[in-house]
Amino acid sequence: MKPPILRRKPFRLHHVQNVTRSFWGRKGDEPVESLIPQISEEWHRGVEQHPDLHRDPPKSVAILGAGVTGLTAAYQLSHFSPETSITLLEASPRTGGWIRSLKIPTSKGSITFETGPRTLRPWTVNGIITLNLVSHLSLQSQILSVPKSSPAAKNRYIYFDKRLNELPSSIQGVLKALQLPVLKGAIPSVLTEIFRRKRAKDVEDESVESFLTRRLGANLTNNLASAVFHGVYAGDIANLSADALLHTLYRNERVYGSITRGILGVQEMLLEEKLLEGVYGSRTAPLLNRLKTTSIYSFKGGMETLTKRMEEAVREECDVTVKTGVKVDGLRYNHETSEVEVLGYDSPHNSFDFVISTFPAWSTASLLPPETSNALFETRGVTVMVVNLFYDKPNMTGYSGFGYLIPKSVPLEQNPHRALGVIFDSDAMPEQDERQGTKVTVMLGGHWWDNAISIPSEDDGVRMAKEVLRQHLGITEEPVETMASLQADCIPQYGVGHAGRLRQAHEDLMDKMGGKLVLAGSSYGGVGLNDCVRSARDAAFGVAAGRPMTNLERWAFEEVWIPKDMP
Ligand SMILES: Cc1cc2nc3c(=O)[nH]c(=O)nc-3n(C[C@H](O)[C@H](O)[C@H](O)COP(=O)(O)OP(=O)(O)OC[C@H]3O[C@@H](n4cnc5c(N)ncnc54)[C@H](O)[C@@H]3O)c2cc1C
Repeated sequence: MKPPILRRKPFRLHHVQNVTRSFWGRKGDEPVESLIPQISEEWHRGVEQHPDLHRDPPKSVAILGAGVTGLTAAYQLSHFSPETSITLLEASPRTGGWIRSLKIPTSKGSITFETGPRTLRPWTVNGIITLNLVSHLSLQSQILSVPKSSPAAKNRYIYFDKRLNELPSSIQGVLKALQLPVLKGAIPSVLTEIFRRKRAKDVEDESVESFLTRRLGANLTNNLASAVFHGVYAGDIANLSADALLHTLYRNERVYGSITRGILGVQEMLLEEKLLEGVYGSRTAPLLNRLKTTSIYSFKGGMETLTKRMEEAVREECDVTVKTGVKVDGLRYNHETSEVEVLGYDSPHNSFDFVISTFPAWSTASLLPPETSNALFETRGVTVMVVNLFYDKPNMTGYSGFGYLIPKSVPLEQNPHRALGVIFDSDAMPEQDERQGTKVTVMLGGHWWDNAISIPSEDDGVRMAKEVLRQHLGITEEPVETMASLQADCIPQYGVGHAGRLRQAHEDLMDKMGGKLVLAGSSYGGVGLNDCVRSARDAAFGVAAGRPMTNLERWAFEEVWIPKDMP
């Protein structure tokens, strides 16, 4: 029997514990807004100098997994708490996790294939935190940015009705775009949204599909939104959680009665986001200023530049030990010593004051004694085939832009290989290749393969990708280089009830792991690289102060929203 879904606990100031320790120990009756100037002031003096960071630092911390989350957690923790001994454990012989940028030599110069993430967005709170990390790592000169005015930033397409539909990138473009099949019925849907009935009070969550269909109608939901969710989550909007993935819009409906009213009304943001934006915004000002006109960015050597540099930096720290080739196969909490033992790490010192796990939720759950937290098992990943192709001739796609996404409403005969989307890499980052040509990436599978009896091989993947490009773009030439990578369970799916499950997991882990197992990574607060960096930073900051935590506090306690323009 499933446990009852827990309600959020009342806000007690300390729910933003990972953002600022100034909230600790205060009584809940103090108006939170009155604390902001003091907290900001404390933080501006320097995050690393924050007095609360040095209260009770742990002696030893193990960080599980050396993808971007684990590396960031190790890097940040070594700065927040220089006296802590940190052990970073990774099963694979290399670090970086899903981030992998391969330099392929060819007769006319090398090209770079990304098998995982390829671009970052600078203009979100989590994006600013990543840029702060980039500055710390002195990677500013390695940045390749795509200006907001370039075709790769402006032109995004949806494959619908057997052709690429260009999405509007300006007000002027909207009128033209409204005639496209993919945006059929968009105007009345948007204009009448404000008059639609809001959901019942007791509905805490529903699928993205159900929410958007209620608010905007079935056409926009199935033809446009489903494509966007294919692009980010490789997931099916019928299963994904509206509360988790469209949190602000979902809240706007509850608080203001409609999405439109929320947008037209007072712009609000979460208190902790506001604090972090203020602190990291000012600390990263020179780089932010330089990237003022940037839409997305990567690095000259590809995205792996970030994790490689971070690995170098943590290896230089004398208090950090990096162990690759170590497969962790269990975690046990010792109630007497309040330490967590890491099984599979063959060392006399395999018990730690804290463990930060950056594995996917279901992997972490499988390491714990039975029944520790069943809620963590319920998040699952989807499998994606990433196929990189390079053609000798430039401009082979016939379009100039970021690429196109394919909605779930496209009939099977128009998308028989279940492609999710195609990225025009050479339009966005031509500087990453020494030779001219057309470089594209085809993403296949995702939720379409959820119940598949068999998953195609990588050889099949290349053939399927070529057929997608022939059918959708008319490309019949043979590519000069190809590479397919089957990425099993690579993107966690935040199903309906995600927040409730994380709340339950918080309770379970506080109870059974003593608040010494801390979670970070793509299974919780966002799957993007920026989200992973943020979760690593929060975990490191919390652990540095030595207080029991799970890093799931933001789902366990009530949220505080404040006006965006509050000074
Ligand atoms: C194809 C693809 C494209 C993407 N594109 C983008 C993009 O363009 N922009 C963006 O922002 N995000 C993108 N993402 C999302 C982003 O790349 C991931 O969310 C992020 O890299 C996850 O990093 P992580 O460190 O949390 O996890 P991982 O990269 O999975 O790292 C976890 C590490 O733990 C190790 N590990 C697992 N189990 C064990 C064990 N038992 N013992 C020891 N070690 C273990 C693994 O080997 C791995 O190295 C993309 C993801 C994919 C898959």
